[in-house]
Amino acid sequence: MNKQTKFSIWYIILAFWAIMLIQNVITQAYKVQHLPYSDFLAALDSGRIVELAITQNRIQGKMKTPEGGDKLQEFTTVRVDPELSDKLEKHNIKFTGVIESTFFRDLLSWIVPILLFMGVWYYFFRRMGAQQGFLSLGKNKAKVYMMEDLNVSFNDVAGLDEAKEELMEVVEFLKYPDKFTRIGGRLPRGVLLVGPPGTGKTMLSKATAGESGVPFFSLSGSEFVEMFVGLGAARVRDLFQQAKAKAPCIIFIDELDALGRARGGVGIGGHDEREQTLNQLLVEMDGFDPTQGVILMAATNRPEILDPALLRPGRFDRHILVDKPDKKGREEILRVHIRDVKLAPDVNLANIAAMTPGFAGADLANLVNEAALLAVRRNKETVSNEEFQEAVERVIAGLEKKNRLINEQERRIVAYHEVGHALVGLSLPGADPVQKITIIPRGISALGYTLNVPTEERYLMTRQELLSRIAMALGGRAAEDIVMGDVSTGAHNDLAKATDIARGMVKEYGMDEGLGRVYLESERRAQFLNVPGLAQERQYSEQTAREIDEAVRKIMEDQYTLAKAVLRERRAVLDEGAQMLLEKEKIEGRELEEIMKGHGYTPAPRGLDHLTA
Ligand code: ADP
Ligand code: ZN
Repeated sequence: MNKQTKFSIWYIILAFWAIMLIQNVITQAYKVQHLPYSDFLAALDSGRIVELAITQNRIQGKMKTPEGGDKLQEFTTVRVDPELSDKLEKHNIKFTGVIESTFFRDLLSWIVPILLFMGVWYYFFRRMGAQQGFLSLGKNKAKVYMMEDLNVSFNDVAGLDEAKEELMEVVEFLKYPDKFTRIGGRLPRGVLLVGPPGTGKTMLSKATAGESGVPFFSLSGSEFVEMFVGLGAARVRDLFQQAKAKAPCIIFIDELDALGRARGGVGIGGHDEREQTLNQLLVEMDGFDPTQGVILMAATNRPEILDPALLRPGRFDRHILVDKPDKKGREEILRVHIRDVKLAPDVNLANIAAMTPGFAGADLANLVNEAALLAVRRNKETVSNEEFQEAVERVIAGLEKKNRLINEQERRIVAYHEVGHALVGLSLPGADPVQKITIIPRGISALGYTLNVPTEERYLMTRQELLSRIAMALGGRAAEDIVMGDVSTGAHNDLAKATDIARGMVKEYGMDEGLGRVYLESERRAQFLNVPGLAQERQYSEQTAREIDEAVRKIMEDQYTLAKAVLRERRAVLDEGAQMLLEKEKIEGRELEEIMKGHGYTPAPRGLDHLTA
């Protein structure tokens, strides 16, 4: 329970208690005495009764108090004596049969304290600032940075050249919307920045606004999701309204995953609030006309958990990878951050960059700051290499605690693993082209990765291509096996991928000689109905199942052997590539090809080319 909720509960308890108290005081003032009938008769006899109203079984009225004086006491009593009117006449008392209504008085006794409380509440929340509370519940917490105080430009963001280039288009659009509408080009609407924390996603968005000179609305996804259902949705509506009024502008949502997690998940009671907020966001995104000049930007480090609806065309359909910097990038970021720091001549930024693999931009900013603080503490005029060395150690210690760095030995394994994938891919016909190889740690699952993008959308794949893909997926493990004589757990995902392809070949595509050209795939459909306890129906015998497993295993074994053979033969390329990768942390597929050519190997043909080649 957060602070605000706790506060509200106490507030309600207090308010309730106080209302009861005030209500009590008011009714006390108008106290009606309950009189025994005999006392009433006595009062009647002594002539103290002034006024009466009588119904079937109750008597209300006013009487003088026994002590005398002008003050009249109200009373009620239960009527017992049916012959009352005779007695009344005897004493000459004015009486009616109507009851004076107490409704108004009762109402008053509730309304006054409630009004009083609303007043006090209002007063306090006004004083606490209009940010939170009763009257501003649906209003927004979005910080609006206007262009004046947003003096961030692309020059302040080091590295990330590809991201900046893509964002230039957004800048162009915000600056010259007419140009875009005239040509009728597709206008950007939602841009999703994907990358680990501290890599400069927020900074990039601010710089985009700064470059275009437009207002910048910034809000965190977690701020949308509040205690009351429906509040987040109101916030979203309000935010878009504000933004439209200030268009052209940029809305930036940090931590989009906090609010954009896939709907319909488990959880008791559901997550109504988040779902409503997300739905409202989708509605607003669909509703606004891009020519209005409102650009939505968002950041996340977990794109995989986002609701698919958010990523559909017309929403966040443009994705920009904001990765951790490589060595060169780190040097550039350091250069940006030392602008206001006096450096001693012995500081070498390239060296510091080499010492800090796995650091994100924020870690580097932190590093410079630490070094400067150390220098101040030592009464130095400038920051020297010594301080930087020490700061590096401190920051590394902090990051290691958070488990965000990998050590030297792991780096070596990862480098060989990744070059293994790439080299097998480049050596076998029909595998996907290799674009980039990196050992920069990203996220939790993959330590490094080899980016292989299919050249074009493919509908057909030959048996050869599928086999090459399996070999490529197993290439990482094969390289570890050859070089280290042992394999790591890093290959987990690779095995799953390779096995998937092999199973498909056997069961779906009838590509296995032994089992023949038979379609055996029926499990996949059954998986939709995968209720625990409900056995999956299989349309083939136990014997066939065993044969399938056998065939899959054989394909995997063969391809693994092949991958190992390739890597053994081209060991020199593997070593050189891994060395280069360790040094630069990120290399292009092209660069590995160059190394291959240097050793006298030609890269194998890609895609369907191998059929004609
Ligand atoms: P994210 O939004 O990705 O978590 P931020 O944009 O908040 O990261 O970055 C935090 C800080 O790290 C920035 O204020 C900046 O000082 C520093 N930083 C991160 N990336 C860079 C970069 N590429 N160039 C310069 N500084 C950076
Ligand atoms: Zn791998």
